[in-house]
Amino acid sequence: MRKKISIIGSGFSSLSASCYLAKAGYDVSVFEKNDTVGGRARQLIKDGFTFDIGPSWYWMPDIFEKFFNDFGKSVSDYYQLDKLSPAYKIFFSDDVITIGDHMDKICEEFERIEEGSSKPLRKFIARAQDHYDIAINKVVLKPGLSPFELVTKETITRVDRFFKTISQEVRKNFKNPKLISTLEFPVLFLGAKPNHTPSFYSFMNFADFGLGTWHPRGGMYEIIKAMKSLAESLGVSMHTNSNVEKINVIDGKPTGITVNGKVVNSDVVLSGADYHHSETLLDQPYRQYSEAYWDKRTFAPSSLLFYIGFDKKLKNVEHHNLFFDTDFELHAEEIYDDPKWPKNPLFYVNFPSVTDQSMAPKDCETGFFLIPIAPGLEDTPELRQQYFDLIIKRFEKRTDQSVQNHILFKESFCVNDFISEYNSYKGNAYGMANTLMQTAFLRPKLKSKKVDGLYFTGQLTVPGPGVPPSLISGKLVAELIQKHEA
Ligand SMILES: Cc1cc2nc3c(=O)[nH]c(=O)nc-3n(C[C@H](O)[C@H](O)[C@H](O)COP(=O)(O)OP(=O)(O)OC[C@H]3O[C@@H](n4cnc5c(N)ncnc54)[C@H](O)[C@@H]3O)c2cc1C
Repeated sequence: MRKKISIIGSGFSSLSASCYLAKAGYDVSVFEKNDTVGGRARQLIKDGFTFDIGPSWYWMPDIFEKFFNDFGKSVSDYYQLDKLSPAYKIFFSDDVITIGDHMDKICEEFERIEEGSSKPLRKFIARAQDHYDIAINKVVLKPGLSPFELVTKETITRVDRFFKTISQEVRKNFKNPKLISTLEFPVLFLGAKPNHTPSFYSFMNFADFGLGTWHPRGGMYEIIKAMKSLAESLGVSMHTNSNVEKINVIDGKPTGITVNGKVVNSDVVLSGADYHHSETLLDQPYRQYSEAYWDKRTFAPSSLLFYIGFDKKLKNVEHHNLFFDTDFELHAEEIYDDPKWPKNPLFYVNFPSVTDQSMAPKDCETGFFLIPIAPGLEDTPELRQQYFDLIIKRFEKRTDQSVQNHILFKESFCVNDFISEYNSYKGNAYGMANTLMQTAFLRPKLKSKKVDGLYFTGQLTVPGPGVPPSLISGKLVAELIQKHEA
């Protein structure tokens, strides 16, 4: 008889694992508490406007391609990918930097800001590419079981790069504050401050400038639709509106899960829900990590988000826009060192309808505004409105247009929603940060040490936050399950 595996949650990591496990011959069922699959990558469709409510940056196209290749498919079998040109725009208080779609254009822009800066930039990106090759081919595909996984002939000769920070590396080569912010931006995706992130992670800069920024036509949810369709074609059964209330364990082995009050028997349980929440589904003796453990971790930020339908086309904006027109350092301190609502936050705005008209009605614009904030902050309607007023005024000023009278509707999402929608620890948006002390074998484990047959996947375990790492996390856990649960 085929072994039955119940998977909790339907984010990228769960969907990825479900495909690998079904291909390996297991009987796989996915249970998602919400009414659609996708986890943090769900979609909001309203009055003809389409919003990706979570991830919007499609980086590392090679990882997506490899995922589909593992099943004899290609990305192009499911969705059309466009390379964005320009990739994105950064608004500073006195200038705008445009990041083009290849290195020559980016070098020209760096030269405009600081003469002579293209030479160190090319060197920096060549080193970042070296890190990318090692990270993707040698390091990231390890399950985080032991420190020795990190010891390869490639890493041993570059060990200093794990102990120097990305901030030190960038500041050694560049003096202009705008160029420094531009080069420190990609590691923000890893959830920690650049001065707490090992310089080895400059592979994110290669992902940015070397591989480019892409857009699946129709939005990021196209990836979820593709993975769902692939999983179903492999025999996975999907259950939405299925809240998992308990992971049932007898004598240290899982017997199944309780879903909406009913017991579902299974031989193996895999949770892709937030790790902290997953452990609360177990009786106390079977939990591996204490509340104090979780409280001491560095979590990636939460976010205050606004999804807005505009009744006109906006000017001076691109698909991706970063507003770095205030103090980067101060905002980072207000997220990590002294958590509080930021005085004058940086923010990000996404207008997918600038390049993809299917995302908005004719002559309209779909806008998604994001302010990163510390997890666990108080979240009230008044605070949301206060921050909306603040950023929309800055947006109008920096882009030189009035937009407030052109808002057809506005929805918001913040800490309380991350908790109620996803059972997210302290309302984190994208998991646990990749600091040196939270890398690889130092992250919460894929395989439970206390329940033989219980596994975890997703952005709180290895390799870390982001869509590509979540795809890899699903693959790693599926390999472990095949090894231990044959
Ligand atoms: C606003 C935002 C912007 C982001 N931007 C980017 C980006 O541009 N690019 C990028 O690469 N990454 C981005 N990320 C990060 C990326 O979205 C995540 O790392 C990734 O989606 C996490 O996937 P996951 O599988 O770990 O978990 P999740 O997506 O969180 O999936 C977990 C699922 O488990 C379900 N669940 C929880 N508890 C239960 C239960 N008891 N029973 C049943 N189901 C349960 C949840 O509802 C959820 O669907 C962003 C994230 C956010 C929130």
